[in-house]
Amino acid sequence: MTPTNVEQLKKLPQVSEVMQHPAFASVAEALPHDLAANMAREAVDAARQRILTESAAAPSTDEVAAEACRLAATLQQPSLRRVVNASGVIVHTNLGRSMLAQEAIDAVNDVIRGYSTLEYDVKAMDRGSRHDHCERLICELTGAEAAIAVNNNAAAVLMVLSEFAAGREAIVSRGELVEIGGSFRIPDIMELSGARMVEVGTTNKTHGYDYERALTADTAMLLKVHPSNYRMFGFIESVGIGELRGIAEAAAARADLPQAPLVYEDQGSGALLHLDAFGTYAEPTVRASLEAGADLVSFSGDKLLGGPQAGIIVGRRELIARLKANPLARALRLDKMTLAALEATLRVYLRPERALESIPTLRMLTEDAEQVRERAESLRADLAERLPEGAAELSVVADVSRAGGGALPMCDIPTFALQVRFLAGNAQACGRYLIQECPIPIVARISHDAVLFDARTLTDPDELRLVVAGVATYFADKVKG
Ligand SMILES: *Cc1c(COP(=O)(O)O)cnc(C)c1O
Repeated sequence: MTPTNVEQLKKLPQVSEVMQHPAFASVAEALPHDLAANMAREAVDAARQRILTESAAAPSTDEVAAEACRLAATLQQPSLRRVVNASGVIVHTNLGRSMLAQEAIDAVNDVIRGYSTLEYDVKAMDRGSRHDHCERLICELTGAEAAIAVNNNAAAVLMVLSEFAAGREAIVSRGELVEIGGSFRIPDIMELSGARMVEVGTTNKTHGYDYERALTADTAMLLKVHPSNYRMFGFIESVGIGELRGIAEAAAARADLPQAPLVYEDQGSGALLHLDAFGTYAEPTVRASLEAGADLVSFSGDKLLGGPQAGIIVGRRELIARLKANPLARALRLDKMTLAALEATLRVYLRPERALESIPTLRMLTEDAEQVRERAESLRADLAERLPEGAAELSVVADVSRAGGGALPMCDIPTFALQVRFLAGNAQACGRYLIQECPIPIVARISHDAVLFDARTLTDPDELRLVVAGVATYFADKVKG
């Protein structure tokens, strides 16, 4: 410790001084004494750390008290809260992936208001299973014999590997050893499950015979992983579900193999409808994977399906029955709020044309660009009325939205955005202001010194109003000052 540091440390206020400081005292009054004292202590500690590690000067008591006030305010404010997504990334993983359909919101509200049939069978007037609420619907929508929904798709993959491949081998192509954002890696999940991973093929090419040669008496599974967030081009080859089915059937006929391996696809995004608008890049549907011969398919509830966070496993009845009996099904089970949202979302899909309208993720993915342009234009007009002279240049520009969430990575979705160019202030500062200072943070895109508000993900009139208010407030300060 340098002599200067020691001197600065001596200048730091005591916790009791911060407690008595008029600015903090009024805040502290509203808090239990111990809690207020913790805030004051934290503020003093933070200042001490800055002196020690950055050789900073000691802050004044006013400054420490202001920091204590800020800490107390943070404690009172929700950390998880609503944001406005003007980024144009539809399934935005950092912003909660899919928005729920109104039907799902209503179902959650209804179920959380009181007691529910979570594990009660009304017909039998006896104990029921929480797995029953969604199963029938999932089967109708995918053509599966049976289904189970758990916490998320990572949990679903873990459960399938644990139940069917623990202590045995699962064959997977080297081209599919993927990492999905947020630390989900196939090799790691494989290790956790106790399955032995047998890698075949190369990064760019894997053939049917690569799987055939790797088959042993210990092979439990042929695993196919959908390359959700990337695509490979050029000299490439991978083996489809249909061909894997054929390999599994041929294995069943071999005397040296005790049983046929399961064909399991981790499909990731989970499209229940084929989105024709995306042509050849449209994600394969769950139904198509089952029809091609997968024994089991798993997928997320909050990616292309557009529902709550969940992992859904579909497939043959006897296999799903084993999963239901696995202790992991208990550990990874869904809560009543998620089940209500999932069931309601799935029910919307019974009428596909309604799903495209009611499920926000599908609506945003497929909305006509002209309609998006109209919203961008009305946003421009509303904001123009609110901006002082000399603040900014506003224009509506053609741009590209993204599906996000590791789906449709090759698809440039045409969109229109309101572009704000700065005559006062600047894009970085405005972007920061909209996120950090607005009561409901607004996440926009910053590009070439302009801020862009993508109208494709701004669907609610209320969100347009928030954007107008946020930007207008930013400029009100700038132009006055
Ligand atoms: C997204 C994804 C996962 C993880 O799903 P979560 O629902 O986020 O847990 C696993 N596998 C693939 C192929 C994915 O795309």
